[in-house]
Amino acid sequence: MANKNNTPVCGLCGKKKKLIKTDCCNNWICDDEDKYVIFSYAKNSCSRNHRRFTLCGSHNTEGHSGKWQSCKKCFDSFKHELEMYIWYGTNEYNFTVLENPPAYKPTYCAKCGNIIVLSEGGYSNLCGVYRCENCPITEKERKDIISQYKGGIKHKQLN
Ligand SMILES: [Zn+2]
Ligand SMILES: [Zn+2]
Ligand SMILES: [Zn+2]
Ligand SMILES: [Zn+2]
Repeated sequence: MANKNNTPVCGLCGKKKKLIKTDCCNNWICDDEDKYVIFSYAKNSCSRNHRRFTLCGSHNTEGHSGKWQSCKKCFDSFKHELEMYIWYGTNEYNFTVLENPPAYKPTYCAKCGNIIVLSEGGYSNLCGVYRCENCPITEKERKDIISQYKGGIKHKQLN
């Protein structure tokens, strides 16, 4: 992305200083990975955000071929959480977003029924049973969930 004078600007935040081109899509972006403090989970680095939290970035990191927009491998790796696929493909860390994101069913907390926004984190997922941050899984529930899950697998194999 460039402005009228062809001065490169970061396609995500618009800054003009210290830019590099992304490996994945050859767009100008802030060369700012050094700003990221390890394990801080901060989202203050444009280049890290694009590399880690977009389909474009992960498609490239995983070494897939073709365009991420039509990549089956990317889709398959997120199939169990379509919501995250859409988030990766449409969040503000993208230069171009998925044009026709598929519809998805929201995820609900198995205990209180509140909607869980997967991209915001703070939830837990055990064997496909989701809990919001207000409803942590107790030790007893953990055992029940795991044994039900194993039962489910056996059942599937019989069919
Ligand atoms: Zn930037
Ligand atoms: Zn990219
Ligand atoms: Zn891919
Ligand atoms: Zn809950």
